[in-house]
Amino acid sequence: MAVSLQTKYPLRPITNVPRSHRSSLLRVRVTCSATTTTKPQPNLEKLVVEKRFVNPPLVNDPSLQSTWTHRLWVAAGCTTVFASLAKSIIGGFNSHLWLEPVLAGYAGYVLADLGSGVYHWAIDNYGDESTPLVGTQIEAFQGHHKLPWTITRRQFANNLHALARVITFTVLPIDLAFNDPVVHGFVSTFAFCIMFSQQFHAWAHGTKSKLPPLVVALQDMGLLVSRRQHAEHHRAPYNNNYCIVSGAWNKVLDESKVFEALEMVLYFQLGVRPRSWSEPNSDWTEETEISNNQA
Ligand SMILES: [Zn+2]
Ligand SMILES: [Zn+2]
Repeated sequence: MAVSLQTKYPLRPITNVPRSHRSSLLRVRVTCSATTTTKPQPNLEKLVVEKRFVNPPLVNDPSLQSTWTHRLWVAAGCTTVFASLAKSIIGGFNSHLWLEPVLAGYAGYVLADLGSGVYHWAIDNYGDESTPLVGTQIEAFQGHHKLPWTITRRQFANNLHALARVITFTVLPIDLAFNDPVVHGFVSTFAFCIMFSQQFHAWAHGTKSKLPPLVVALQDMGLLVSRRQHAEHHRAPYNNNYCIVSGAWNKVLDESKVFEALEMVLYFQLGVRPRSWSEPNSDWTEETEISNNQA
């Protein structure tokens, strides 16, 4: 009597990873083949392990690379921000207003950090990939919690193009409608910090020795979100340190439990539970520790 058993073991499905990442995950196929005959002999069972790359490794995933469309959107976003900054400087020069535009610019920088935290908290906790307008961002951030280190392999324009698109559509009308140097002092720095927040975020995942010294200095001074601070966001209980520009608001927001209060209000008013209440679970837990980026 011969019994043939062949079982294939694919890796367990990985959910909540951006579709663009799924295609390139290393898949290992294990094939077990066992044969039993009427004359059993030792070592007849044989295990065949077939290991192959179905697709290129994640680090070479084309979805991490910039396209010309990405670069054009980043160029458009930078152009609208630069136009706003130019209007602020020229308007200030013409009206002899200097302090007010500078203070407005500082306010833009400070409030951009708060804005990044509120937006990040919202998409981390509510909605899903089918949510209108921000579904892609929600899916991408959920994927980021699974594979945080991939952000360090993502090319510049690939990482920024989504926010650059939002900035282009928002700042362009403001550029056309307003000439006030104070308004543009605020808008230019706020929009710049929001558009580059994903770059600051990527640097927060970088290894100290591989980051430009100026970036490390700015992180150490607290002008950009620090590696140590953002690392806390990727650890249990997964409900803090949402701000990714300077990180200056993280301590205030977390200690005052503002987001927890908002979550309670939304739960009792709308019956919607934030994802962070269900953590830690597999949705936010890092999938693999391929790279130790928290230097
Ligand atoms: Zn997050
Ligand atoms: Zn992160």
